[in-house]
Formats: sequence, C-alpha cells, structure tokens
Amino acid sequence: MAIKIVILGGGTGGTVVANLLARSLRDKIKVGQVTINMITDKPYHIYQPGLLYVTFDRMLPEDIVRDQRTLVDPIVDVLIDPVVNIDRDNKKVVTETGRNINYDYLVIATGSRTVPELIPGLAEGGHTFYTMDEAKRLRNTLAGFNGGKVVISVGVPHKCPVAPLEMTFLLYDYFSQKGILNKSEIFYTYPINRVHALEPVSNWAVQEFERKGIKYETLFNMERIDADKKIVHSMEGTEVGYDLLIAVPPHKGSQVIETSGIGKDGWVPTDKIYLNNDNHEDVFVVGDTTNIPISKAGSTAHFESEVVAEIITSKITTGVSLRQYDGKVLCFVESGFDAASYIWFNYTTPPKPTTPSKMLHWMKLTYNKLYWSTVKGIL
Ligand SMILES: Cc1cc2nc3c(=O)[nH]c(=O)nc-3n(C[C@H](O)[C@H](O)[C@H](O)COP(=O)(O)OP(=O)(O)OC[C@H]3O[C@@H](n4cnc5c(N)ncnc54)[C@H](O)[C@@H]3O)c2cc1C
Repeated sequence: MAIKIVILGGGTGGTVVANLLARSLRDKIKVGQVTINMITDKPYHIYQPGLLYVTFDRMLPEDIVRDQRTLVDPIVDVLIDPVVNIDRDNKKVVTETGRNINYDYLVIATGSRTVPELIPGLAEGGHTFYTMDEAKRLRNTLAGFNGGKVVISVGVPHKCPVAPLEMTFLLYDYFSQKGILNKSEIFYTYPINRVHALEPVSNWAVQEFERKGIKYETLFNMERIDADKKIVHSMEGTEVGYDLLIAVPPHKGSQVIETSGIGKDGWVPTDKIYLNNDNHEDVFVVGDTTNIPISKAGSTAHFESEVVAEIITSKITTGVSLRQYDGKVLCFVESGFDAASYIWFNYTTPPKPTTPSKMLHWMKLTYNKLYWSTVKGIL
C-alpha cells in the first residue's frame, strides 16, 4: 500500500510543501510507494503581498494571480474541492462534494481570513487592502481622494504585521506626489502600547512617523465604526473621526479548523519546533493557521514548509527525523515608493530593521517576480 500524503490548502505553504515533497520523494512516487494529494478550495493562487501594489496601481490584479495547477509539480494530484471536515481519529478528510480521503501524513496549510464582521460597522464604513476585491475598491477610492483625514486602524490578530506600516508610508508618498499632503492628515492606530508588535520595528517606525509628521495613537482597539458619522470608537473609550478609514480587520483561521474541533478561531495548536499538531505525530501545520506566536507571513509559511517537507521525507525514507524549525522570518518593509527596510529574526534573535534604501526596495520588487519560482521550490 502506498504511503498517502495529503496537503490541505494551495496557498504559499501548501504549494511549497507539495513541490518540495514531489522532488524529494519522486522515485517512490513513480513506483507507487508514495502518493501526494493537494486539496484546495479554489483553482487560482493570489500572491497576497502584491495587493499593496494593486492598491496603489503599481501592479495589475492579473499580475498577482496564477492558475494553481501550473504552480504544482504534475506528479502531485491537485483536487479543487473545499475540505469540510478533518477527522484525525480515522485519519481522513471529507470534502464538500462528499469525497473521503485517507492519509498517512496530513499537512494543514489552510491559512487565515479577514473577519470584518467582528467589528460592527467596519464593512460599511471602512476600506481594507487584504483581499483582491477590497484592494481594487480602495484603489478606486484613492484615485478620487483629494485630501482629508485618513485613519489606518489595525485589528488583531492579522497576517503580515508590517503591511499596515507599509500602507501608511506608501500613502504618505502617494499624497506627496499627488500634491495633497498639505490638505491631508494621516493618522495611525495600533492595539498595543507601541506602533508595532516587535519593539525594534516599532522604534524604527516611530522615527519614520515623526520625520514625516504622521500622527498615531496606541492602545486603540477598534470596537465599532459609526459609518454615518465617520467615527471609529475604540474599546478603550476613545474615538477618532475620519474621511477615509483603511482598516486591517481581525483574522481567523479557516472555518474547517473550528468545525473539526481542532483549534479555537481556526488556529491549530502546533509544536513550535517540530511543527506537528500537538499530540498528532502524523499531522503537520504550516503558515498562518499555526498558533505559534510569530508573524503570520509568507516567509514564515515558506521556511516552515521546508522543514515539514524534510521531516516527512526523512520519516518515510529513514524512519527518523532530526529537523527543527528555528522560528525564522524574513521581510522587506516598504517605507515609501522608492525605499524599503529589511528585517529577519527567529526565536532567539530579535529583528533589527536596516536603514531604508533604494536597493532594498528593488530587492522587494524583484522578489515580487521571483515569488512564482519560490513557491515552485526552484529558489
Ligand atoms: C496585503 C498583504 C500583504 C502581505 N505582505 C507580505 C509580505 O510582504 N511578506 C510576507 O512574508 N507575507 C506577506 N503577507 C502574508 C502572506 O501572504 C501570508 O502570510 C501567506 O500567504 C500565508 O501562507 P499560507 O499558506 O499559510 O496561507 P495562504 O497563502 O492564504 O493559503 C491558504 C490556502 O488554503 C486554502 N483553504 C482555506 N480553507 C480551505 C478549505 N476548507 N479547504 C481547502 N482549502 C482551503 C485557501 O484558499 C488558500 O489557497 C501579506 C498578506 C497580505 C494580505
């Protein structure tokens, strides 16, 4: 009987794991000793960091979308059919069309989603840039925006912790270029007592804010939005008026995680070193859906996927695995249209943002194109 590997989710993490396993286990797959199935819920793949550039009309929506099947090694069987139940006791998953698919090894890579409805009034009164439709809507609103108060407000938890800062810096440059900076105010709010979860990044961002005259309020957790009066009310009892609200809504993991009783709010309890679902040696977790307290980012998903692919390969080929995840995360942070900073960190080394430069900005733009090769496991 073939050893069955099933991967749930065809985003960054799922695609990297599938391609790396296809490469390392190709000989066994060819002779029928191993099979790899990817089950995902849509036929296309969005490069999500590109949504920032779609918002500012620096990339077209079609630049950041690919057919999922073209990104996955043909030796992997790709099924487009949402998973509706994960049954770890019977080692199987059930799909929306009623398929029962057994596994020996399961990789959960079902990501995270925005849940604006957790904040009353947000969907009606605010914009975001975290989905394709919302990025296009914000792009169209910005095209007609000729000055006023823009509030950037951040809900938790959310993926890509640096994206709200990037949005703030890009807005500043956009208003400068459009000649409406003197008629505009950019106001940033953040839920904890600094402007970013990572203290060194917060210290760096505050200096940038002060240099650019961007105002901010910390300890501001969105409670409700009064869309008619254009006011954001915080749980702390304060309020901020706006002409344009750009919010990062709170996130949850995929619904199937909660429905299957695996993790509250869709976050899967995950061992931070070995990346298995707690007490389940045959279930691995990568990307946004883990409950590991590190950044939910594409780079995190990618590095975790490399480790999981190596662990599964070793277990199948040698019976043991020594591979561990060290918490590595790496991000380029746009600080304007023409400059970016860079951070990397892991469980033991804190981030140290570099001075923004043109070169780092070009590196981020280059990575935007290289992404399709990285998910294929080529880079
Ligand atoms: C605006 C923005 C900017 C960003 N910028 C950066 C950046 O600069 N750097 C960085 O590192 N990261 C960035 N990110 C974050 C990055 O895109 C995510 O962290 C990354 O995609 C997570 O990978 P994942 O595989 O966990 O989830 P995803 O890539 O979201 O993939 C999850 C997959 O699972 C599928 N799925 C969900 N539920 C089911 C189900 N029930 N059945 C089957 N399939 C299912 C989904 O459709 C999707 O295909 C950004 C994100 C956004 C929104």
